[in-house]
Amino acid sequence: MSAGPDARAEYLAALGIDVWVRRGGAAPPPAAAPVPAPAPEAHPDPAPSPAPADAGAEARWHALREEVLKCTRCALHKTRIQGVFGVGPHQCDWLVIGEAPGAEEDRRGEPFVGAAGQLLDAMLKAIGLDRHSNVYIANVLKSRPPGNRDPKPEEVAACLPYLNRQVELLQPKIMLAVGRIAAQNLLGTEEPLGRLRGRVHRFGATPLVVTYHPAYLLRTPADKRKAWEDLKFARSVYQQLVQGSPADGHRA
Ligand code: SF4
Repeated sequence: MSAGPDARAEYLAALGIDVWVRRGGAAPPPAAAPVPAPAPEAHPDPAPSPAPADAGAEARWHALREEVLKCTRCALHKTRIQGVFGVGPHQCDWLVIGEAPGAEEDRRGEPFVGAAGQLLDAMLKAIGLDRHSNVYIANVLKSRPPGNRDPKPEEVAACLPYLNRQVELLQPKIMLAVGRIAAQNLLGTEEPLGRLRGRVHRFGATPLVVTYHPAYLLRTPADKRKAWEDLKFARSVYQQLVQGSPADGHRA
């Protein structure tokens, strides 16, 4: 899916990021962005349409989903309404990972719904991604911690094998961790989010970029511009990956 100039301006406006619009012309990238995107706006779509599904892979996806929905590996199964497996096409290049389901996600059985989910969708659309066509979205934990408390280490240890299997099935080219909790658990670090941004990490063999959680951005709109920088960085890393250039460095 392509996000043309008009659409991108619309999504940036939805993010609450001011966009300077040239009279009679298209909107350029935000003028005050301190970090240049390595790739120009005219690059090809960030994620091509998925290939036709493989029946064996689809069966493995289905079996894994059923396993998660019946899972009792940690105590969270006692308090959840339902497991929240993930959403998106089973063949795509992008995998977005959050922390855990919240109350609305627990009710609806889908990650990132409600206000934070709408903001995440707008963020992703700004770089040409859509959960219905070219990005898969899941969480580190598949069941909601009571009161939205932080995941406990034993819960992460119990649940992470499911994410590992999702990654094996999806084989994404790039992962985007949203929020400190997701980033720290995926990377096995206690480094603050600010120090994890702007670098290419690895989850196994998969390059991983870190940005803010949309729920945090709703509370702290001043940081939306930094999130936009992260998204542009992630897009540039992806474009380098698909074009065969090394993408192991830091933000340019
Ligand atoms: S959080 Fe993960 S390990 Fe715990 S019950 Fe839910 S699916 Fe199972």
